[in-house]
Parts: sequence; C-alpha cells; structure tokens
Amino acid sequence: MPNPKRRHSSARRDRRRTHDSLDVMSASICPNCNASRMPHRVCPSCGFYRGKQALRVEQTV
Ligand SMILES: [Zn+2]
Repeated sequence: MPNPKRRHSSARRDRRRTHDSLDVMSASICPNCNASRMPHRVCPSCGFYRGKQALRVEQTV
C-alpha cells in the first residue's frame, strides 16, 4: 500500500486550514419585496430575479 513518507508538520496542517473557516453570508435587499436575499439568487420570498418573475413561490400559511 502506498503511504506518505513523512508526517506533515503542524505548520503545514495549519496553513492548509487557513481556508477552512466559514464566512458570514452576504445579503442584499430584494427590489421587489424588500426581503433580504442572497446576491445573484432568485428571491426566496417573491421569486423575482432581475425584475421578472422567475419562480412561482407557493404561499405557506
Ligand atoms: Zn422578493
């Protein structure tokens, strides 16, 4: 079985993990219904994207 010749150093492990942390999601405001939505995504509350109805949103009561 192939195996790594050397154990990675803790500095190398930590450098790899510098990209592992999660970031806070950015949000923007829907121009149609003023709900907060993610940029470049269809609005989850009204289904609009770039001024047009892109999805039919079912109403949950
Ligand atoms: Zn909307």
